[in-house]
Amino acid sequence: MDYAEHIVDLVGNTPLVKLQHVTEGVACTVLVKLEYLNPGGSAKDRIATRIIDAAEAEGLLAPGGTIVEPTSGNTGVGLALVAQQRGYRCVFVLPDKVGEDKIDVLRAYGAEIVMTPTSVPADSPESYYSVSDRLAAEIPGAFKPNQYENQNGPRSHYETTGPEIWRDTDGKVTHFVAGVGTGGTITGTGRYLRDVSDDRVRIIGIDPEGSVYSGGTGRPYLVEGVGEDIWPGTYDPSVPHEIVPVDDAESFAMTRRLAREEGILVGGSSGMAVAGALRVAKTLPANAVMVVLLPDGGRGYLSKIFNDSWMRSYGFNDVSEGETVADVLQ
Ligand code: PMP
Repeated sequence: MDYAEHIVDLVGNTPLVKLQHVTEGVACTVLVKLEYLNPGGSAKDRIATRIIDAAEAEGLLAPGGTIVEPTSGNTGVGLALVAQQRGYRCVFVLPDKVGEDKIDVLRAYGAEIVMTPTSVPADSPESYYSVSDRLAAEIPGAFKPNQYENQNGPRSHYETTGPEIWRDTDGKVTHFVAGVGTGGTITGTGRYLRDVSDDRVRIIGIDPEGSVYSGGTGRPYLVEGVGEDIWPGTYDPSVPHEIVPVDDAESFAMTRRLAREEGILVGGSSGMAVAGALRVAKTLPANAVMVVLLPDGGRGYLSKIFNDSWMRSYGFNDVSEGETVADVLQ
């Protein structure tokens, strides 16, 4: 019989698939790594497992403990999965731009949710960073994984994501592309691929226009899970060779194209990563092999990116899809 003993044993070893249709004008191979096939539905399952294991080993988390974390949802799901398996309580602090669908998923795993305003500075007492600090201090037995500082985040990508890409491309990968949020993915995976290839793999970070990584001030953008208004300790700026900024309109248009033209239903940060990656891919020779990491699936964004009225309400007009059945019936 072939089965896993525990759901967390299924984290990682996600597959690569080649992009076939959105790659017009591109000569090289562009492969995407489907992190939504992790059991919790995102790349964050990887860091959650590593962070909880380390906290237990260091005595920071003990039976009866509570995990408190500011998270846009995916880290929460990963942590909730591991917490559920080991009997911890979870309290998650979220910015109010996060979609209802994502919040309901966290509640489904049994987590408690605290909402905070998106449009306040990081140092405001109302910000999701400050509120989570206060809860972690006040709840007895609380442990704050602190995904923005915890080095077990990048380490999990160094130990799993990087080696998987090297193995699955037979060492032929030439470019690695990922969106930057906490920076854990690009730092850990990028560092591994640079180390293992004697620095031949080029590492490219993609950032929402307006965020600090591409020289912005952290002004608001709508794409979720990427970009920062602070510099997290999990991001090592010496790892990426290049940072490419992509705006919301282009990120969301590519997210929708991936679903319709490739059959790949992923979130807005995946569309952002592919949009930025293809800009670079257009300049590369046919023998280049680019791997783009797609952090999560699209089901958490159905009422936003995949909803025409939501898109129009923000002035994104890229929603017309040609003749519809309604047009034919008129
Ligand atoms: N996309 C989504 C949807 C995310 O939740 C995250 C994590 N914040 C990222 C991308 C970025 O990954 P990282 O934090 O490793 O930079």
